[in-house]
Parts: sequence; structure tokens; C-alpha cells
Amino acid sequence: MIRFNQMDTTSTETKVYPKIKLGWFSFSCCEDNTVVMTEVMNDHWQEWKKIFDFRHVRVMKSKNIMDEFDVAFIEGAMAGPEQEEQVKKIRSISKKLVAVGACAVTGLPSGQRNNFTAEQKESIDFLITRFGALPSVKKVSDVVTVDVEIPGCPMSPKMFLEKVNALVAELRSSQ
Ligand code: SF4
Repeated sequence: MIRFNQMDTTSTETKVYPKIKLGWFSFSCCEDNTVVMTEVMNDHWQEWKKIFDFRHVRVMKSKNIMDEFDVAFIEGAMAGPEQEEQVKKIRSISKKLVAVGACAVTGLPSGQRNNFTAEQKESIDFLITRFGALPSVKKVSDVVTVDVEIPGCPMSPKMFLEKVNALVAELRSSQ
């Protein structure tokens, strides 16, 4: 099991780190990466509650704070202009932005309408208009700069832990 340390024990002085402000956001997708994250959290809760300030994680809490994040995780693709604007907002207040899962990293499978034939696209035109959706579904990197990508449908728990571990180390090196 990968573990994280709240205190730096590599030096003679014990350094206590401020908590890492974390946001988790889901856009157009089936939210399986959120399920993976919560399953990983089941094993790591005791460590994570000392390391992370879960500032905006709607799957865990009803009162969320949207001010600034050390790291924000984005799941899902952007299907509408409001989602584009929200991702831009999240990027502007986050030090690190991580795209989790295939929908966020590649736009698929959530954006399968991008690959429709002309006839299929014509048949869904009324829905695009009714819901004010974007002409094409976008992956996160089509909209903002992404620092880390964790592909997979859903993402692998092992890779997720490895990337989180690396992010914790990187963020702490600047704290
Ligand atoms: S990448 Fe796959 S599992 Fe993840 S949200 Fe998209 S469809 Fe669901």
C-alpha cells in the first residue's frame, strides 16, 4: 500500500505541512472515476484526512468552498459552454490541474457524438439546440492547460495513487 507522510522525517527538524487544498469536479461522464477515488479513499482515509483539505468534493460533502486549490481533479468531458467556463474558472484558481479518466483525457467515450455520421449528427441537432450544447464535445486539454493526465475507463486505482503520491511530493517541495 502506498502511504503518505504528514511530517517530513528526512531532516533532523520535524516539518508540519499545511494541508493540500483539493477539489474534485465531474462533468459529462458516468462518474466511475469518482467511484474509484472513493474506493481508494476507503483504504487511505486515515492518511488523507491529515494531508488533504477536501475543499470542494460534492460527492463527499454538501458545503463546498470554491476559492483556491493546490490540486483540482477533473473528470468527464465538456459538452456545453457552461462546463467550458467552469473548467476555465477551476484552472484559474488551481496550482495543479489533473484530468482523470478517458472522458477527460481524450473526450471519449462521453463525446461519441463527435464521431457520428452527418446523418446521425443531423438527427440530434434539435437536442444540441434544445440543451445549448457545444457543436463538439471537448476533452479538458481542448479548453485549459492540463498538468497531469490519468487515462483509463475508468482510471486504474494504482496509477491514481502513484500520481497523487507524486503530486503530494511536488506540492510539498514548494511549501
Ligand atoms: S472514462 Fe469511462 S468510466 Fe470514466 S467517466 Fe468516462 S465513461 Fe465513465
